[in-house]
Amino acid sequence: MMAHHKPGLVSAIWSMKCPACRKGFLFKNKGIFPLSQITDMPEHCPECGQKTEIETGFYFGTGYVSYALSVMLFVVNFVLYKLIFGLSFRDNSPYYYLATSITIVVLLQPWLMRMSRVIYLYAFVKYNDKAQESAA
Ligand SMILES: [Zn+2]
Repeated sequence: MMAHHKPGLVSAIWSMKCPACRKGFLFKNKGIFPLSQITDMPEHCPECGQKTEIETGFYFGTGYVSYALSVMLFVVNFVLYKLIFGLSFRDNSPYYYLATSITIVVLLQPWLMRMSRVIYLYAFVKYNDKAQESAA
């Protein structure tokens, strides 16, 4: 039996919740505007007090994560494009495929920037059952 009080890992990551308690939202602004504050995080999780920047420069490596996510989007779009429109080197479809992939990655850039930080934080912070009680 699954414990009911523990929010699922995937849905917690998807909704950008704190990795320690899976309840507190990790960013200052719910929406993506203003874009200049897109990756602004509160210093501590509002629910459990987990530090969001574990050490100075912690998020330096997130560029690699967003790069990996972008590559993943290219692959997903490749599969979808091939299934829906078909890809052939005898017409312009490879160019359309590339154009749609680039458009998707550019449009999703704000989401990618946030998601790469969330994934990065999840890689280093474990779920903590006692997160609620240990909040200072
Ligand atoms: Zn938390």
